[in-house]
Amino acid sequence: MKKLEDYVTSIPDFPEPGIIFRDVTTILQDADGLALAVDGVREMLKDVDYDVVVGPESRGFIFGVPVAYAEHKGFVPVRKQGKLPREVISADYELEYGKATIEMHRDSIKPGQKVVIIDDLIATGGTIEAIIGLIKEMGGEVVKICFIMELKGLNGREKLEGYDVESLIAYE
Ligand code: IMP
Repeated sequence: MKKLEDYVTSIPDFPEPGIIFRDVTTILQDADGLALAVDGVREMLKDVDYDVVVGPESRGFIFGVPVAYAEHKGFVPVRKQGKLPREVISADYELEYGKATIEMHRDSIKPGQKVVIIDDLIATGGTIEAIIGLIKEMGGEVVKICFIMELKGLNGREKLEGYDVESLIAYE
């Protein structure tokens, strides 16, 4: 039986020289790989009391929605600037390679809601740090943050200190 990490493809020098890109598409295209990833995150959440799943565009959607559906929770998307049709709140942040602005609908998290964030990968932690800021602005409480993969060398967890953070695969 293959392990989840066996389904990840590592691509050197993508999208820039010096970066090893961890490609999840080879997890997704295989029925067993996809099941290992989704069920792995569901297992992380089995003792967690939460109301809603938040996932960032675009790979946070891929892993967040099947978990939310299977656990009968709602899903709230975090999108890149200019994509959401109603009133938004936004945050700027630094990426491992570049800068970005993310947005959420202003009414997407209700005050007091317990939130789980799901994404494919944590690198510097900047994306999730920005999302936590938006959730807090709306009065939500982040109770767990789940990743398929974690790039340990970039110390993303330091930005998420005090939060319950878990990943299925860690790369040094
Ligand atoms: P962070 O904000 O630096 O933690 O970057 C995390 C985001 O960058 C995630 O949403 C990933 O989709 C993307 N990312 C960064 N490095 C990789 C990689 O090696 N493989 C896949 N996605 C990556």
